[in-house]
Amino acid sequence: MNSAPENDGETYAAVEQTTTGKICSFCGRGATADRPLAGGYGAMICRACIDGARDMLDDQASPPAGGELRSYWEDGTDGDVLAGLRIMKASARQADEFLFTWVAIARAHGNSWAAIGDVFGTTRQAAWERFARRLPDVTDLLAGEGSSTD
Ligand SMILES: [Zn+2]
Repeated sequence: MNSAPENDGETYAAVEQTTTGKICSFCGRGATADRPLAGGYGAMICRACIDGARDMLDDQASPPAGGELRSYWEDGTDGDVLAGLRIMKASARQADEFLFTWVAIARAHGNSWAAIGDVFGTTRQAAWERFARRLPDVTDLLAGEGSSTD
């Protein structure tokens, strides 16, 4: 069964640990005390981008009278488009790091390389070759998980 982890206190602690050094996948800004990030499955988002996304959804639901909704890349300068490309590159790198972290978590949960390879539509050997040498230590992320003494 596929289900998201529950949002209990332990999950929030793990999320806080994973925001260090991370960027908002939408604006490219790093996390600060004033600009915390929320994340999930390979993407992070800051409060300003959450607010911006809410405004965009509101505009789509009821467009401004006489106004035409335009895309960012239609009105942006060449420099704006390149700035967007830099954010996409940084976000893709970050998503790739999340992928390695998630594979490490899957392994820590006892999943086989064959099962992980199946997710990627490849063999266990190909999955191992791609991930095994660069798996991060996820001990701290999993601290407290399943740590009962019975
Ligand atoms: Zn942002």
